[in-house]
Amino acid sequence: MKKKHIEVWEKCLKVIGDNIPMQAYKTWFEPIAPVKLENDVLTIQVPSQFFYEWLEEHYIGLLKKTIKKELGMSGRLEYSIIIDSSFKGSKPYSVNYPASDRRATRNKPMNMPIDINKGKSRDIPNPFIIPGLKKIKVESQLVEAYSFDNFIEGDCNRLARSAGWAIAENPGKTAFNPLLIYSNVGLGKTHLAHAIGLQVKSNFPDKIVLFVKTEQFINQYIDSVRNNNQNDFVHFYQMIDTLIMDDVQFIAGKDKTQDVFFHIFNHLHQNNKQIVLTSDKPPVELKGMEPRLLSRFKWGLSADLQIPDLETRIAILQKKLYKDGIEMPYDVIEYLAYSITTNIREMEGALVSILAQSTLNKKIIDLELAKRMIDKFVKNTSREISIDYIQKVVCDYFDMPLEAINSKTRKREIVQARQLAMFFSKKHTKNSLATIGLHCGNKDHATVLHACRTVNNLVETDKQFRAYVEEINKKLKI
Ligand code: ADP
Ligand code: MG
Repeated sequence: MKKKHIEVWEKCLKVIGDNIPMQAYKTWFEPIAPVKLENDVLTIQVPSQFFYEWLEEHYIGLLKKTIKKELGMSGRLEYSIIIDSSFKGSKPYSVNYPASDRRATRNKPMNMPIDINKGKSRDIPNPFIIPGLKKIKVESQLVEAYSFDNFIEGDCNRLARSAGWAIAENPGKTAFNPLLIYSNVGLGKTHLAHAIGLQVKSNFPDKIVLFVKTEQFINQYIDSVRNNNQNDFVHFYQMIDTLIMDDVQFIAGKDKTQDVFFHIFNHLHQNNKQIVLTSDKPPVELKGMEPRLLSRFKWGLSADLQIPDLETRIAILQKKLYKDGIEMPYDVIEYLAYSITTNIREMEGALVSILAQSTLNKKIIDLELAKRMIDKFVKNTSREISIDYIQKVVCDYFDMPLEAINSKTRKREIVQARQLAMFFSKKHTKNSLATIGLHCGNKDHATVLHACRTVNNLVETDKQFRAYVEEINKKLKI
C-alpha cells in the first residue's frame, strides 16, 4: 500500500495539474516531494528558498484549497526547504516553514537561513577603500538595446526573467544573490544580464552598476599584477553596487583570478551588493572551479534559458523588425522561425542576411528569396530538424492548417497527420516521447509510442501510405 502522504500528495497533484498550465505544473510542482503527513499537516519538500517563495506568492491559494479538499478543514501544509550551505559542510540541510495564511511577500521570512551567512561582517567597513574614490564615475558598459522592453518573454525564459526583474526592483535584497543565468549560446544570457543592469540603473540612478565580460576581468587582473596595482583593481570592484559578470565559465582553471574574484564576491555579498553571473553551463557542470567559489555561485538562484518555442521565436523576430522600422511579409518571418530553432543569434543573423540580399540586389523580400538564403544559412550551421518544423512539413503536405495537429479533433486525416508528426519527431529529433507528445496535441508518451507502431505497421501493409511517408521524409531532409 502507498504511504498516506504520497497518496494525498498525488491526489493534490491531480487537482493542481488540472488547474494550471502544463509548463507551470512541470516547473513548480513536479520537483516537489511529499515528506510526511502528521496530524493533518502535510510536509512537502521543495528544492530551494526561491521555490518556496514562488509557491507562496503564486500558488498559495490553489495549494490551500487543494489541501483542504483532500485533508478537510484542519488540513495544513508545511514546506521543507533544502538549503545548500557551504557553512554546514557539504551536505544540504533543510528548514521547515508553515505555509502562510496570507500571500507572502517575497522577503517575508526574516530568519532566512541565507541571511545567517551574510550577517556576520556586514558592517565592517572596507579598510582599503580610499576616501574620495567613490566619486569616480564608473562607466556601466551597458548596451541600451538589450533592455527588458526588447526581451521577449516566453516559457523558455520566464524564471530567469522574473528573477532578474525582481532583482532590479530590489538589488542585493532578494534571495537571488547571486543570480546565475545559464544556457547554450545565443539564447539571451547577455541580453538579459544587460537588461537587469539597465533596469537597476533606471530604478536607482545613484547605484554603481558594472557589466563586465569575464575575459575583460581576467585581463584587467593580469594587467594589475604586471603593474603592481592589484589593490586598486580589487578596490575598484569592491565599490560596485551591482556587478554583472558575463560568461563566468571563462574563469575556470584560472586559479589566481578565481582567488581574487572570491574576495570581491565575498565583499560584495556581505555588503548586500547584487551579483549577476552568466555561464554556458549550470554550476554543477562547471569544471576547473574552486569549490568554495562554486558553492557561492549556488547560494542564490541558478536559472536557465531554454530554446524558445515557435511563437516566442516569431515574436522575437517581429520585435527586432519593428525596432528597426522594417516590414517583412509574415510568411517569411514564419519560415525563418521554423527553420532556425536552437540559436536566436543565428536566427537574427539569417534575418540580417536576407535584408542585406534584398537591398544589394534590389529585390523584394519574398518567401522565395528567404528560402534560398535560409537554406544556405542553415546548411552551414548544421541544421537540426525540430518538432515544429516536422509538423509544418506534414501539415503542408496534407494541406491542412498547422493548428489541426494540436486540436482535440479525432477526424481520421488529422489523427493520421498527428501520428506522422510524432513518428518523424521520434525518428529525426532527440526529444523524449513525453516531449513529443506534449508538442503534438498535448498527448502522453504512450500515445506517441502507439503512433510510432501504427505508422510502422501501415508502412509495411499499405503501399499508398508508404509513399506518403517516403515523400514527407524526403521533404524533411532537404
Ligand atoms: P547568449 O549570451 O546566451 O549567447 P545573447 O544574449 O547574445 O545570447 O542573445 C543572442 C541574440 O538573441 C541577441 O541579439 C539577443 O538580443 C537576442 N535574444 C535572445 N533572447 C531574446 C529574447 N527573449 N527576446 C529578444 N531577443 C532575444
Ligand atoms: Mg553571451
